[in-house]
Amino acid sequence: MLFTEMGLSPDILKGIEALNFEKPTPIQEKVIPVLKKNMCDIIGIAQTGTGKTAAFGLPAIEAINIANKQPQLLILSPTRELCIQIANDLENYGRYVNGLRITSVYGGASMENQIKSLKQGVHVVVATPGRIHDLIRRRKVNLSGISTLVLDEADEMLNMGFREDVDAILSQTPENKTTLLFSATMEPGVAAIARNYMREPSEITAGKKNESTANVSHVYHMVHARDRYNTLKRVLDFHPGIYGIVFCRTRQETKDVSAKLVRDGYNAEALHGDLSQPQRDHIMQKFRSAALNVLVATDVAARGLDVDSLTHVINYNLPDDTGVYTHRSGRTGRAGKEGMSVSIINLKERGRITQIERSIRKKFEHRPVPGGTDICERQLFSMLERMQNSNVVHNRIDPYMDKVYGMLEDLSKEEIVKRFVSLEFNRFLEYYRNAPDLNVEMKKRRKSNAEGTEQKSNGGSMARIVFNIGKGKNITRRDIIDMLVKAPGARNAEIGKIEIYRRASSVEVENRVVKNVLGELNRTIYRGIRVEAEENRNFRGNDFRDRHKGPRGIKRKAS
Ligand code: AMP
Repeated sequence: MLFTEMGLSPDILKGIEALNFEKPTPIQEKVIPVLKKNMCDIIGIAQTGTGKTAAFGLPAIEAINIANKQPQLLILSPTRELCIQIANDLENYGRYVNGLRITSVYGGASMENQIKSLKQGVHVVVATPGRIHDLIRRRKVNLSGISTLVLDEADEMLNMGFREDVDAILSQTPENKTTLLFSATMEPGVAAIARNYMREPSEITAGKKNESTANVSHVYHMVHARDRYNTLKRVLDFHPGIYGIVFCRTRQETKDVSAKLVRDGYNAEALHGDLSQPQRDHIMQKFRSAALNVLVATDVAARGLDVDSLTHVINYNLPDDTGVYTHRSGRTGRAGKEGMSVSIINLKERGRITQIERSIRKKFEHRPVPGGTDICERQLFSMLERMQNSNVVHNRIDPYMDKVYGMLEDLSKEEIVKRFVSLEFNRFLEYYRNAPDLNVEMKKRRKSNAEGTEQKSNGGSMARIVFNIGKGKNITRRDIIDMLVKAPGARNAEIGKIEIYRRASSVEVENRVVKNVLGELNRTIYRGIRVEAEENRNFRGNDFRDRHKGPRGIKRKAS
């Protein structure tokens, strides 16, 4: 179907043409003809990025009586940023509709100016629930002429605690209006609004309820919780052109992760609730203009940030709520582009992936965390691609070329290319020289020689503690664990393989707690028992067993 086949007015079609929209999106195809026929109540299950603003906006603008200068279309939206964006989009769609006036009102900005623009007479008000409720109470806005009310991102409005404001606003608008509700998910609160305030709404879905957008692939990496940050770095390094949001659970986590990323040389910043509005605006603007390529954010802070070209969404931690996962992943794969939602999980969170898979009706792919070699290769070819696409400003560079050729005279073409690419390549090569394998399953198979060597040469994340007592003294696994966890910091440390032989036993613990564990054990353990760390010995072979088991092949008498 084409826009010209939907019964839209020439003025609106002119606006659409100016925006170069070739054909309607699926939600537009479903909603516009219905509303053009009859402005009835509709529930639209659609995420941001599906074109829903035009889906409700075009017919709603056409239903306005321009001669009557009072609000006729009210759009409620959860955040200031979304309000501004919706108002901008509507301005564009209605650019050729003579006399159409649109304003937006939201918290965190001067109420005086908003009151002034309302007084001048407007047809469309785009508002956050809190601010418009305030304006209603102060009698600064008259909603008696509202003929169309749109609840945009209804689930988000409820999640943000606007339930009471929405109820109050709805009760102030005329009974016989058209109500259009858009939501990415159909959670019980949203269904309740539909039940209480809508008249026989038709439900229109662009994609299934809670279903993720078609262009998004869902990937997860399974690592130990302590390796989350290093995994994030690997993901960023493996995707050199990444433009994405890293979602964290808490403000503190966004601060920590972004501080580490900045320290490690990434172009990242944090967006969280502790920032002032101008700081938020500044960071969002930087991110929108792609001057910033990684934004570390909480779900709440990222609301209202609408960027259509994100390549990735990274779940540094999975959200508790599947609806939140749908929202996060729906931020990528928009406007016909491919997107990827990457989740970094630990073993315990595998079950959550299955739950989300069921809910969004998409399979996740378990991918190994990229290794050093993969990353170096990616970076090398990305650099070559950038070089191929780089813009040569001949008149600026030409004056230097004689000198440049002179300096490179003694090098062959092959040598020049090699040195040139090495400039960048060496940086990653050096950084990832002894990079450990971060995959959980891979670690279980750590017996392979190569991996053992990598662990050791990197300082290793685990060390082995050896006791000079074993089965002969009736020591058990329980005894070893009980001894370990008494050491400061060791309670939450990972405990690896425990081996108990006749004359010795050993336990693997995280390197970071080895010092404490040894200190504690040497302070409390019985005289005559020796405890030492075996970091530098070889973990790989059976040397430890061979040394402590007793002579091989000789059957000992049962004691
Ligand atoms: P929305 O879901 O309304 O926030 O729209 C997401 C983006 O898609 C906005 O930047 C719109 O300008 C754009 N858009 C909306 N409809 C179309 C269309 N039919 N063709 C191309 N782009 C569109």
